[in-house]
Amino acid sequence: METGHALPQPATKLNLRKIMSSYKAMSEIGEFGLIDRIAALAETTLPAVPELMTGIGDDCAVYCPSAKLLQVATTDMLVDQVHFDLLTTPLRHLGSKAISVNVSDICAMNALPRYALISLAVPSSFSVAMVEELYQGISHAAKEYGLAIAGGDTSSSRSGLVISVSMIGEVAEELLTRRSGAAPGELICLTGSLGGPAAGLKLLTREKEIMLNHIENNESYQRNIMADLKEYREAIQQQLLPIARIDVVRFFHAHTIRPSAMIDISDGLSPDLQHLCRHSNVGALIDEGRIPIKGSTRLIADELQDDALSWALTGGEEYQLLFTIPRAEYPAIAENKAIAVIGETTDVKEGVQLSDIYGMKIDLASIKGFDHFPQ
Ligand SMILES: [Mg+2]
Repeated sequence: METGHALPQPATKLNLRKIMSSYKAMSEIGEFGLIDRIAALAETTLPAVPELMTGIGDDCAVYCPSAKLLQVATTDMLVDQVHFDLLTTPLRHLGSKAISVNVSDICAMNALPRYALISLAVPSSFSVAMVEELYQGISHAAKEYGLAIAGGDTSSSRSGLVISVSMIGEVAEELLTRRSGAAPGELICLTGSLGGPAAGLKLLTREKEIMLNHIENNESYQRNIMADLKEYREAIQQQLLPIARIDVVRFFHAHTIRPSAMIDISDGLSPDLQHLCRHSNVGALIDEGRIPIKGSTRLIADELQDDALSWALTGGEEYQLLFTIPRAEYPAIAENKAIAVIGETTDVKEGVQLSDIYGMKIDLASIKGFDHFPQ
């Protein structure tokens, strides 16, 4: 864990039994009944945001913005079988992740999240308790980040679950950070370590295949997943329950630090560094030896005969912050142990390059990241 964000507990055997014994189909309580239950969970997030004058319950949410602050807005959609798999993802974790991925985009602007609107398309096979599990993850994460769930919409879905989150954040104009402000000769900095979420995804995919094979062969599936995967806990947690770097944004605000450019790493270090460089019209040279990859991630890569560096470069779903600062400002960030300097910006003509451990320069544009629309 890299921040103080406490985990929502996954459904244990005990409360799963409770959920099953009190199974209630959504048709039994109807749309308004469901909204009442969701509103009760959303209400617990309201005290942290007094500027929200009206939450769920009217036609619109009402928010009173501060005259001194800019607002930033983002939206992100999670779709069953595209962004997650319910065979390997507890609903509570998924709810939390839907919030974190949006908070991460707000943080990438050096802003803090204030409120969110949540739209759900729910398959008819879902019970009321399953929707509540999902929403408990949503409201728990919202409270951890200090944002309010101000409203939303629910619909039935004829295919899989879809969660769409829109989020509003705020930042003082003098702290607002875009992707476009970097200049040649600045330091390229990164929060946290990379590769863990990709390692977690590979492990979960392997576990799912083992389970499906057992089912196909009519064998009982007796693996105690949590016991067997204990040593991989951190990587799986980073995949299922990413934590946006709101701690780093709070650090920036406390020290009045404005990076010259910033982006969150949702696609992977390589593609997101290229995005930042393109918007800033600079090149970059990063150093393989400086990219933080945990020993535990390298061990998993060895076990799966995969490559931790390529996970770090193109794995995606990291939700760490990648930013640039002028060299003279380094002392201001030096005390923050979550931040590593991994390279420097160069003239745009140099391109975006990785210097490997032998000093060979590799053009990062030749390495592909995760593509939502693969050809
Ligand atoms: Mg982003």
